[in-house]
Amino acid sequence: MLLIAEMRLSKSPPSISYISFLALYIFSYTITPVSSNYLQEDFIKCLHRNTHVNFPLEKTFFTPEKNASTFINVLEATAQNYRFLTKATPKPTFIFKPVHESHVQASVICSKKLGIHLRVRSGGHDFEAVSYVSQIETPFVLLDLSKLRQINVDIEENSAWVQAGATLGEVYYRIAEKSKIHGFPAGLCSTVGVGGYITGGGYGALMRKYGLAADNVLDAKIVDANGKLLDRSSMGEDMFWAIRGGGGGSFGIILAWKLKLVPVPETLTIFSVTKTLEQDPDLKTLSKWQHIADKLLVEDLFLRVMFRVAGDKTLTLEYKGQFLGEKGTLMEVMKKYFPELGLTQEDCIEVSWIESVLANAGFPIDSPLEVLLDPKLSPYVKVYFKGKSDFATEPIPPFGLKGMFKKLVEENTSSMFMIPYGGMMAKIPESETPFAHRKGTILKIHYATNSTSEDGISLNKRTKWIREMYSYMTPYVSSNPRLAYVNYRDLDLGTNTKDSKANFIKAQTWGAQYFKNNFNRLVKIKTKVDPENFFRHEQSIPSLPFSKRLRSW
Ligand SMILES: Cc1cc2nc3c(=O)[nH]c(=O)nc-3n(C[C@H](O)[C@H](O)[C@H](O)COP(=O)(O)OP(=O)(O)OC[C@H]3O[C@@H](n4cnc5c(N)ncnc54)[C@H](O)[C@@H]3O)c2cc1C
Repeated sequence: MLLIAEMRLSKSPPSISYISFLALYIFSYTITPVSSNYLQEDFIKCLHRNTHVNFPLEKTFFTPEKNASTFINVLEATAQNYRFLTKATPKPTFIFKPVHESHVQASVICSKKLGIHLRVRSGGHDFEAVSYVSQIETPFVLLDLSKLRQINVDIEENSAWVQAGATLGEVYYRIAEKSKIHGFPAGLCSTVGVGGYITGGGYGALMRKYGLAADNVLDAKIVDANGKLLDRSSMGEDMFWAIRGGGGGSFGIILAWKLKLVPVPETLTIFSVTKTLEQDPDLKTLSKWQHIADKLLVEDLFLRVMFRVAGDKTLTLEYKGQFLGEKGTLMEVMKKYFPELGLTQEDCIEVSWIESVLANAGFPIDSPLEVLLDPKLSPYVKVYFKGKSDFATEPIPPFGLKGMFKKLVEENTSSMFMIPYGGMMAKIPESETPFAHRKGTILKIHYATNSTSEDGISLNKRTKWIREMYSYMTPYVSSNPRLAYVNYRDLDLGTNTKDSKANFIKAQTWGAQYFKNNFNRLVKIKTKVDPENFFRHEQSIPSLPFSKRLRSW
């Protein structure tokens, strides 16, 4: 910004006095915003100097000045949270959609040169929208990777190269296109972007068998803070460690991940059993689930519980399961370990892995697989959304659960679910990747309020509700620090500002919540690979302030 202001000032007539020059300087820097046209022009000129691959302007650059409705359409296309799509939300000065990897490199070089603050978006599912909204620094520019979505599956090698702009649904589809017995352990919702998802760890229905998506990454291509294109060997093991769970938007721009495919059986079994509170008044079933979900139940079984409030305040508990095997074997497992659920043969459906993917993503299992390719067909509608997370290391006692349900039914737009840990998650050491929620974690809790309409009053009410719920849960979840999942980003935990020293101090609190002791290593790596903190947002990993650098190395 300063640099651009200086460039424009250099065209001022030479005859003006020093004082008027100074006045003009201050005026133009502090009051007159640099026109987005100038910013974009300079950026485009710079891009041309730094890439040999053409980028048709009408398909790659979007500004409100050129076409306001197209700009809004592009901005909102993958943005998942209406809470950040209001008129008052800060908007990018322009959006650039690279069509070649060299455009991403050039974007970093040019943003750095022109002093542009960049936000990077792959699938747009960030809970707090830090990929497409900057609350702390304006102006900013949005680099949208949605045109970089190529997927190459190599069944012989059990691997796939996937560009950051692809969705999980596309990854699943392309794997299933080539094999019925290969899969990838990734998320439940098919529209989530591969780019951001893996940077935060990435859990899904195969996590108890194979761990997180980030645990199954073989290689990556990334553009660093100098615009250099690196792979695993050239970035080094420190940076490769940091990008697999240390959160998005901190270390560089991931262009592609190389995924390790995992074996899946030809037949899986999925089921769903719904109970009302009246059917489980003493919460015996839920209590038993908490005691066995991470321990006794075999790794082949992923059994989550979703809590929902109907309009008449009726609460339902849905036990949703996926088993890597046939119905008969599942019935034996359930009879032995969890008869309280009352699972019957009729509740179970045998499916292929890709059909289980459809079911997890909320589609009917007989849907054409192509629904996985089109995010617009997803059953999950965009909402005004606020989410939070917790991890529990002890089962929550029945009286705690009862209070939790009492609070849950207070808010019609609320939803909650619990995800079982254990299995492979408990076998991977805490420091293997930045994702530290491993042995000892029995479950993760997700709290949300989702509303299809919004006014200031209901937003305040819902925000108050979710914070109160979070506060109510304090005695029942992890503490010192109270842990959270970075992919369920929650700015209530703390945010960065422009002051790097203050950031580092404040970030130690939320950093430990997301990453435990791994946070310190993340900061060291960040300081090494991006000392100027080029990649930054409200909750990016801060670089060490200069005063602390020498002492810490
Ligand atoms: C409806 C819904 C369902 C979800 N389901 C699951 C689930 O089943 N399992 C799970 O683990 N999580 C789930 N999530 C959370 C999701 O994993 C995170 O929000 C994730 O960060 C989204 O990635 P994205 O690319 O879609 O998001 P974006 O908003 O594009 O990016 C998220 C973050 O990553 C950064 N980033 C994006 N692209 C890149 C890149 N190429 N290089 C570096 N940084 C980048 C962004 O700057 C931002 O900080 C879900 C979220 C939603 C809204």
